[in-house]
Amino acid sequence: MWILPAEALSRVVLPSWTWGDVVVAEAVRIRDVGASVGAHESEWARVLSHLKAEVGEAAYASWLRPMRVERVDDGEAIVSAPTRFLRDWVVNHYADRLLALWRAENHRMTGVSIVVGAPRGGGLDGSSERRENAHSPTVAEPAVVVEMGDDKTQFAALDQRFTFENFVVGKPNELAHAAARRVAEACASAVHTVPFNPLFLYGGVGLGKTHLMHAVAWHVRRQACDRKVIYLSAEKFMYQFIRALRFKSTMDFKEQFRSVDLLMIDDVQFISGKDSTQEEFFHTFNALVDQNRQIVISADKSPSDLEGLEERMRSRLGWGLVADLHPTTYELRLGILQSKAEHSGVRISQKVMEFLAHKITSNVRELEGALNRIIADMQLIGREVTLETAQELLRDLLRSCERRVTIDEIQRRVAEHFNIRLSEMTSERRARAVARPRQIAMYLAKQLTTRSLPEIGRKFGGRDHTTVMHAVRKIEELTLSDRALAEDVELLRRMLQS
Ligand code: ADP
Ligand code: MG
Repeated sequence: MWILPAEALSRVVLPSWTWGDVVVAEAVRIRDVGASVGAHESEWARVLSHLKAEVGEAAYASWLRPMRVERVDDGEAIVSAPTRFLRDWVVNHYADRLLALWRAENHRMTGVSIVVGAPRGGGLDGSSERRENAHSPTVAEPAVVVEMGDDKTQFAALDQRFTFENFVVGKPNELAHAAARRVAEACASAVHTVPFNPLFLYGGVGLGKTHLMHAVAWHVRRQACDRKVIYLSAEKFMYQFIRALRFKSTMDFKEQFRSVDLLMIDDVQFISGKDSTQEEFFHTFNALVDQNRQIVISADKSPSDLEGLEERMRSRLGWGLVADLHPTTYELRLGILQSKAEHSGVRISQKVMEFLAHKITSNVRELEGALNRIIADMQLIGREVTLETAQELLRDLLRSCERRVTIDEIQRRVAEHFNIRLSEMTSERRARAVARPRQIAMYLAKQLTTRSLPEIGRKFGGRDHTTVMHAVRKIEELTLSDRALAEDVELLRRMLQS
């Protein structure tokens, strides 16, 4: 068994210098034992298990298994390796991934310091001696601190959190996700293939287009760092092009893009309309496709619906695979909340998450915003957030999400959707073909309006509030087991809220 020195590592960074893109700090002072190790052990275990899956059993056993998390201080983890050689190896080969994976587990993690510590099992390194010296600070081997961000390469704009590991897959995004993964794997493989060119991802705001593109870039960067990947927004593309025109360096501009293995341009709807940029984009695009280089494009609409785009461009964009990200379903929203809450290491009650998943239906960004507010509150006040406090905290957000929907409107829409007469909403008929739509309408009335159960009951032909309650429960249950019904409900909800 490994005996921790009676002191843990408390980092005192002396003057530091950069080494590649990590910062090397000169020394580490050893001081009292950190109490926070336990809480982060499980995060560390998950980080290691992800890394093991990525690097394979042998590399894992040689380099990673011997490492131990010593403590976590203010988002800064201190991990020890038994020897200097091992420490350097890990820093050179796995530091970025360690940090990225840890950030995926816990987004507050801002850095990982890798230090040389005593080997587990005592003995050689004289851990008993260290224990004796418990209270006299000693200077240990140099530490290496991997800092976040400030990578000056093409990847400067990549968000650490936007990886495939952090992307929750559900019905609405499974095609886009699978396609993005295919592209990433193909691009990173030794025999560089191009499964579909371009991959065109489209969908409304905040549904994960940028996340998927960054995930592709991370994957390629990790698996095949020699590949040249460029990710940029269409606006940046335009800006660079216009600059190149001004400084008469269009050749360089072209070269830069034409030598890439993977070009990703986000939000191309912003290119539409600008003739010269479109022209340049078109040529770049064709040159890359001809050379069998992969292109990934995103937009808020499908190629055929993009306005202000030349016809030849439009048709060219649709040549590869066009994959759309549909609005989220309740299940996906709940899945995303659960995943994000887990990563942030905060326990949030299931009720609160269900409430958020029900109420914040617009997009994932807003959903995240709501969750972050709740997490911030929990951390500041240090108390459990209940359904009531969540409602209170998110009042303004919820209000803006709730367009005033009336019960009449709900009844009319639902009747239209299921092709039944409006009068069935208030009728006594119990045939499934009318009773189910009626229950859906009651459910939506409960979800989308502020009316009470008795009020809703009255609007449905003077039914009792328990009937409404039963309908709400029934539909809740069915949305979990009956996919078609869940989609109907989601579609109606969107229609009513838009
Ligand atoms: P878009 O580019 O489509 O407007 P983004 O990719 O910027 O949307 O996504 C908005 C936010 O929602 C990001 O923080 C992203 O991580 C998150 N997000 C979207 N979809 C998912 C998903 N399926 N799983 C996890 N996070 C998601
Ligand atoms: Mg985006």
